Amino acid sequence: MMMKDWIATDLDSTLFTRAWQADDAVAATWNALEDGSRQPSSWMRAATHRLLAALAHSFALVPVTARDMDSFARVEVTGLHLRGPAVVANGAIILGWDGLPDPEWEAVMTERLAPWESRLHDFCAWLAEKSRGLARARLVPGPGGLPAYLVAKATVEWWRTPEARDMIAAMDWLDCRVEVLGSELQVLPPGVGKRGATLEVQRRWFAGQPPLLCMGDMPLDLEFMRLGGLLATPTGSTLDLSWPASAVSAVAV
Ligand SMILES: [Mg+2]
Repeated sequence: MMMKDWIATDLDSTLFTRAWQADDAVAATWNALEDGSRQPSSWMRAATHRLLAALAHSFALVPVTARDMDSFARVEVTGLHLRGPAVVANGAIILGWDGLPDPEWEAVMTERLAPWESRLHDFCAWLAEKSRGLARARLVPGPGGLPAYLVAKATVEWWRTPEARDMIAAMDWLDCRVEVLGSELQVLPPGVGKRGATLEVQRRWFAGQPPLLCMGDMPLDLEFMRLGGLLATPTGSTLDLSWPASAVSAVAV
């Protein structure tokens, strides 16, 4: 029987983090070791795991993540089904109930992304050169062998320097969306995003019914989070810190 009630949730820094290595933390993502074994690379708080395991009895848990297929495959949390439906690669790929990329969406996104392939390669090379190698830029694989979007990693502090800001301002990014999210810069071609793909998941597999609850940690996540009836973010997340402090003090008074 197909569940109609669902929860849409970002993964990294919303449910998972590398920092929570408490004794009772639950492993969430895994790295393969050379000897064929594997070790956890991020964790979920035990209480969060209990909450999600309880919710999973009544709701489908739909990941909405920037992870590509390879890094999404490294997500495995005991007792939670997170394989699909899912939004992967910032919406460039969606997975159905079978956990496989949806061919209809793949056709749509391949057509959208094909014209951007060479531009994204150019952006990548330009960023590497202009940042003097301080921003490590790469293209995230999407459908049909095309890049889904560009991500460039540096330190949080470096992205705040005048050098980094001037560099970003100097480029004509055409119609792409350019955002600095913590330690990384993301460049998303038009038509790529978590919201559009989450709407497609809603239409295709949940009879058009919006998610009851949406969770995320970045201001950009709000775009898909606002599809839900309830919004949640971890205390101290970038999204939490972006909410006006005056609203908090008004409530406190
Ligand atoms: Mg996140």
